[in-house]
Formats: sequence, structure tokens, C-alpha cells
Amino acid sequence: MPSNDAPTKVDVLVVGAGFGGLRALDTMRERGYSSVLLEAGHGVGGTWYWNRYPGARVDVESLEYSYSFRDDLQQEWRWSEKYAGQSEVERYLNWVADRLQLRPAIRLGRRVRSMDFDEATGLWRSAATVTPGGDDEVYESPHVVLATGFLSVPTLPAIPGINSFRGELAHTGEWPDPGPQIEGRRVGVVGTGASGVQVIQECAGKAVHLSVFQRSANWCFPLRNQPMGPNERYSHSKSFVVKAALPVARRDIVVPRR
Ligand SMILES: Cc1cc2nc3c(=O)[nH]c(=O)nc-3n(C[C@H](O)[C@H](O)[C@H](O)COP(=O)(O)OP(=O)(O)OC[C@H]3O[C@@H](n4cnc5c(N)ncnc54)[C@H](O)[C@@H]3O)c2cc1C
Repeated sequence: MPSNDAPTKVDVLVVGAGFGGLRALDTMRERGYSSVLLEAGHGVGGTWYWNRYPGARVDVESLEYSYSFRDDLQQEWRWSEKYAGQSEVERYLNWVADRLQLRPAIRLGRRVRSMDFDEATGLWRSAATVTPGGDDEVYESPHVVLATGFLSVPTLPAIPGINSFRGELAHTGEWPDPGPQIEGRRVGVVGTGASGVQVIQECAGKAVHLSVFQRSANWCFPLRNQPMGPNERYSHSKSFVVKAALPVARRDIVVPRR
């Protein structure tokens, strides 16, 4: 529904509330730019908000996967597992949003559907659809940071008849909450990429029958996941300090003031 309200004017519009967007929002605010972050989902987390399928977890160690730009964040958060599961990473990103006081600038349930650049004013005019409701909101900003990720658009395979399948159909990247029941069901998994490998292992122990449809074989190694004890935390938290003391190339985004 088109909006008659005046556009919200900010220096920087950030789109996406995953790792990238939260960090971008924090940087922009730290540098004194008025900023708003729009997120299509109804929660913070990006990938970790949408990918709720059984078995979803990181493939690199939790300590390496978390933010390293502030030592206090690294010291305060305690990962419970060497390879954290989806719910823990989602909790972590929500904790970061609170800890950095980002919430007031985050607007959830806003899908940006168009962006037009006005050469005359030098402003981006971005329109977002609000869900639920369907109203439109309009933002004007000289700068936009698209932190929309590379996995946030689920791809359904072009399988003839997929739309008339009468069983329950779920995509790992858009897993409903609560998800479909696996226990006692006959389950088929299409795809054996990183997500396929994870969800297959969960279904194998629960479904009465599991069929895996694989186009190309994948190489998999045992994860060797384990609880994070105080010893691992201690040795890593010491290395955070060493890392922080090293001179590192600055990769921060520089936004010219208007
Ligand atoms: C199960 C799983 C495990 C993974 N494990 C690892 C790992 O171990 N190591 C690693 O490096 N990477 C891993 N990844 C990759 C992961 O996607 C990235 O690490 C990271 O989370 C991407 O963050 P991001 O902020 O770039 O994007 P995302 O987290 O994808 O966030 C993008 C956000 O933008 C929002 N958005 C998109 N379009 C719009 C729009 N038009 N309007 C409003 N909002 C919009 C989306 O809703 C989404 O919330 C994993 C991915 C998955 C799915």
C-alpha cells in the first residue's frame, strides 16, 4: 500500500540484520551518521534467523566465527560448543544487538522492494513493504549499505510437479518455526551441500525412511564437535588479546560526509 507519509531521512540506510548489517550499523553510528537498518525477517540474525533446520550449525569454530572487532565482546560471550548450533548463533547476534544498543535503529519486518537514485538530489529513495500489513515506508539517504548476504534468497529446484507435491515441503533456508515433524515420517532430502549434509544427519536418526537425492558427491569430514570447556576458552581469550595487539590493515568502510 503506497505511503503518504513523508520519507524518513537518514545519512545511511543499512539493509539486512545479519553479521554484516549489524556491524555496518554499529560502525555508522560510531562515526556519527544517523542510520536505520531495515530487515525483512521478524528477528535479528540474518542467515541464523532463517536457517532453523535441524542440524544447522557453523562449519568453522565458533570462536573464529564470532565478531573480532571488539575485545570486550569476545571476552564476554561464552560459546557452549566448539561448533555452535543455529539457536546459539541467533542468541549471540541478539545479544550483540542489545550489547551495542543497536535495537532502536533496527526496523524488522521491512522488505526493501525498490531503490531509485535521484541524480538531482544525490539521494537514494528506498521503499520497503511492512509485514504484516503491507504498508509502504519510504526512506531517503545519500548512502545505502546492502548487507543482504549471499544466501538470503532460497532457490527451489525446477522439478516438474514440485508445486503439486502433497506432502510437507520445507526449504532449509526458510525453515518454518515450528518445523515439519520428522519423527515417524518418510523423508526425502534434495541436495548434499553443507546444509544437506547437516539436515540428513538429523533426519537419519528420526525418520522411518530417508531418501537422499544427490547430484554430485560431497566430501565430508567428521565434525568432532565438543563442549567448550574453560580451558579452551582461556587459551582462546588470551589469543584474542595477542591478536588485538597486532597491527592490522583497516578495512573499515569510509563514508564521505555530505
Ligand atoms: C547453516 C549455515 C552455516 C554457515 N556456517 C558458516 C561458517 O561456519 N562460516 C562462515 O564463514 N559462513 C557460514 N555460513 C554463511 C553465512 O551466510 C555467513 O557466514 C553470514 O552469516 C552472512 O551474513 P550476512 O550479514 O552477510 O548475510 P545474512 O546473514 O544472509 O543476512 C542478510 C539479511 O538481509 C535480509 N534481506 C535480504 N534482502 C532484503 C531486502 N530486500 N529487504 C530487507 N532485508 C533483506 C535477509 O532477510 C537477511 O536477514 C553459514 C550459512 C549457513 C546457512
